[in-house]
Amino acid sequence: MRITNLNPGNEIGASGWVVDFEGHRLLLDAGTHPKREGLAGLPLYDRIGEAELDAIVVSHCHHDHVGSLPVAVRHHPRAHVMMTELSYFLVDRVLHNSVNVMSRQRDELGITEYPLYTHTEVDEIEAVFQGFRYNREIEWAGFAKAQVGMRSPTLEFLDAGHALGAAGVMVRGADETLFYTGDVSFQDQTLLKGARFEDVQADVLIMETTRGGRGAAEGFTREAEIDRLAAAIREVQARKGSVLIPAFALGRTQEILALLALLMRTGRLPRQPVYIGGLGRVFTEIYDLQAHRTHRHHSNLALTEALDLQVLERRQLETIKLGGGRLFVLTSGMMTPNTAAYELALRMIEDERQGIFFVGYADPDTPAGKLRAAAPGSTFGFGPQDRAMTRRCDLREFDLTAHANREELLDFVGRVSPRVVVLGHGEPEARAWFREQIGLRHPRMRVIDPGPGDAVET
Ligand SMILES: [Zn+2]
Ligand SMILES: [Zn+2]
Repeated sequence: MRITNLNPGNEIGASGWVVDFEGHRLLLDAGTHPKREGLAGLPLYDRIGEAELDAIVVSHCHHDHVGSLPVAVRHHPRAHVMMTELSYFLVDRVLHNSVNVMSRQRDELGITEYPLYTHTEVDEIEAVFQGFRYNREIEWAGFAKAQVGMRSPTLEFLDAGHALGAAGVMVRGADETLFYTGDVSFQDQTLLKGARFEDVQADVLIMETTRGGRGAAEGFTREAEIDRLAAAIREVQARKGSVLIPAFALGRTQEILALLALLMRTGRLPRQPVYIGGLGRVFTEIYDLQAHRTHRHHSNLALTEALDLQVLERRQLETIKLGGGRLFVLTSGMMTPNTAAYELALRMIEDERQGIFFVGYADPDTPAGKLRAAAPGSTFGFGPQDRAMTRRCDLREFDLTAHANREELLDFVGRVSPRVVVLGHGEPEARAWFREQIGLRHPRMRVIDPGPGDAVET
C-alpha cells in the first residue's frame, strides 16, 4: 500500500493520511493545524491528486483530526464519510463551533480566508455522515465500485480510550492489513476506560507518538496527581484566588469535571460552582446522555447533576470577580487567542493570588506553551503581537494525559508485530525516540518517519 502524510507541519498539526489500498483510496482524518492560520492550517489536500477517494474516515472529534472535514468532503463529494456512532453525535457541534471561531478570528485578527467553510455547508454535508459502532466490520469501497461488484476492503473502529467516540481504525483487504491508532490512551482516565486494542495485529501500523519525548516519572500515579491538584486548588482558594484550568471542550473538560465531582463528593474539595464554556456544557451533556453506551467508569455519574455547572458567557470574561475563589474549566487547552481561557488568563497572569493549572499537552509555540515556560516574575510575549506580560500568578502542571505513554506504545508495537511502522502525531524528538527504540527492539521492522507531503510505499 502507499501512504501519504498530509500534515503540513513537522509536529502535531493537521492530521490526514491518504492510503492507497488494493485499488481503493482512503483518507484517515481531516484535521486543522492548531497553530497555523487560514489555508496554511489545512492538510496538504493537493497531494491527494485527481483520483477520487472512496472513503473519508474520522478517528475522533478533536480539531487536529476533524477540523477540515467539510473541505475534504467538498473536494471528494462522493466519498463515504465514516466515524463512530459516538463521534457522529459530536461532529456537527464541533464543526459549527469551528465556523463561529473562524468567523470571529476573521473579524478580530483580519484573517480574510476564514471561515474555511460555512454553517450551511456543514448542515448540507451532515446528511452523508455515517456513524458506526465499535468492533463491527464495514465495507468502504466507493459506490461505483460496489455497483460493479468489485470486492471491498473493510474497516473496523476500535475504542481508543482517548475521548468520547475516539477510535483506532483497522483496515483489512484481500492481501494486507493496516492499523491506525488515532490518538490513544491505554490507561484508564477518570471516566473513560483505556483502549481496547488487545487483539490488534497488522502488516502496517500508523501510530501516534505524542509522548515520545518524555518518559514515565518514577512512582507516578494518576491518583496521587489528582490529590496534588485538589491540594493546589484548596491552597489558591484559601488566599481568595481563583483557579483556571484550560482544557479542550471535548474529553479533557469532562475528565476534569468528573474528578472535581468525585473530589467534592468525598469532601476533598468544598462544594462550589464550576464555571465552564458553552461548548464544554454541550459536550458534557452528551457525555451524560451516552454514559451507558460508553466503555467507562462511573456510568451513573451524571456530571450535569453532580456539579453546579455555570456557563460563562463571553461578556462575563471581563467582568466576573476573581477575588472570591472561583473555579474555571475553560477552552481552549492551548489558550488560542479569542478563546475563553485566553481572555481570562489575561486578567490572571499578573495577579499573584490567581492560579492557572495545566492538565494536558500544550504546544510550546502556543500562548499556553509560552505561559508555561515563563519563570516567576519574568516578562514574556502572550498572544497576538506578543503582548508583554509579567508572570506573577501561581502556575502548576498536572499530568492527567489522555495519550499513551511511550513505553506502552512500544509494547503495543511488539504485540501488533507489523512489517512497517509509520510515525505521526508527535514532535520531531518524540518520533526520533520511537525510531531508535523500535530499531533496537525490533531490528527487522521498517520504521518510517514521513515529512510533510511525503508518500511512502510499504
Ligand atoms: Zn485527540
Ligand atoms: Zn490529536
